Amino acid sequence: MAQRVPTADTGAKKTSRVRVAVRLRPYMEKEDDKAEGPCVRGLDSQNLEIINWRNATETVKYHFDAFHDEQTTQQGVFLASVKPILPHILTGQNASVLAYGPTGAGKTHTMLGSRERPGVIPRAVKEVFNLVRPQEEAQDGWGCSLTMSYLEIYNEKVLDLLSPSTQDLPIREDKDRNILIPGLTQTPLASFADFDQHFVPASLNRTTASTKLNQRSSRSHAILLIKVVRTQRAPPHRQQTGKLYLVDLAGSEDNRRTGNQGLRLKESGAINLSLFTLSKVVDSLNGGTGGRVPYRDSKLTRLLQDSLGGSSHSVMITNIAPEYSYYFDTFSALNFAAKSKLIVNKPFVRETLTVPVPQVKRPREEAEGDQLRKK
Ligand code: ADP
Ligand code: MG
Repeated sequence: MAQRVPTADTGAKKTSRVRVAVRLRPYMEKEDDKAEGPCVRGLDSQNLEIINWRNATETVKYHFDAFHDEQTTQQGVFLASVKPILPHILTGQNASVLAYGPTGAGKTHTMLGSRERPGVIPRAVKEVFNLVRPQEEAQDGWGCSLTMSYLEIYNEKVLDLLSPSTQDLPIREDKDRNILIPGLTQTPLASFADFDQHFVPASLNRTTASTKLNQRSSRSHAILLIKVVRTQRAPPHRQQTGKLYLVDLAGSEDNRRTGNQGLRLKESGAINLSLFTLSKVVDSLNGGTGGRVPYRDSKLTRLLQDSLGGSSHSVMITNIAPEYSYYFDTFSALNFAAKSKLIVNKPFVRETLTVPVPQVKRPREEAEGDQLRKK
């Protein structure tokens, strides 16, 4: 029998902030019927501004832990916002990376990316293998194993994407305050190729099939869990578990404005409950009010309870789009994410805007993808 080592977060009262980063996707002509140009622009690595709709001679300026402009590569986002938190999961701590924002703003691009421009998920998994390898070779009497689980929260139901026939799975908490899902598939991973083989088909199913599925993918939270278990080879076989959650959240757009009815409306309600609760949890952790963090109010936050706040390391990447058609969703996403905002009395001069990035593959990122695949 393996004996558990209590991880650093058990019993600890300390709560850590959720780091908030914003990523602006490039301007796309096809998203801008009226050819109005962008209404958002970056200022520097922590600040951006958006036109104030109440008064076009003003902009609203927002401040974040990090701002990634439309030129930022997949590698750039990974290095700045994700890579630094990964070593913690090898010491029995938990971590989470969440992509937030309206549908069409770049959540899936950020998390999953494409073969040519791989996103946070493949880069993080590769990096975890890089971190584990030297530990394996260290001969310090500990062995290390990795597993993956992949699930979806849809309509407040927890579904196993690696075993699609299963029904709504329960979320439990053990005596050490660890959150677990009994019955959830845990696939052992010996290499990155193993991961690719299991994850890619499951994620492609979810993201690129019919329009119907696309709608579903914008209405559900897709959650990849990578677990690192370190076990002492000799008795008492102590064990340390670190979890990494990589989450592509449901679209944050306000579904009430799109006239949803029936099932759609029910879905919207459920999505709004999870995202609304997530916003309360993040506010509560970041505001440090010391009150109860409402983790139990939705499935998403309940699942992430031991990996969001506490002594875990979390980052939320808020994805936004620059076109006017996204204006109100952008505004609400920014208000959710911002540490502070400021109204600036200065016209948003179009001439000074960055030239829209042409819709061609950038050679640098193609090279990145090749490099990643070869490893
Ligand atoms: P979401 O998952 O939030 O609905 P997607 O990731 O599907 O949004 O992005 C919408 C479209 O914009 C896709 O065609 C995607 O490839 C493109 N896109 C998003 N972010 C970027 C980016 N940073 N650079 C280039 N294209 C992007
Ligand atoms: Mg998506």
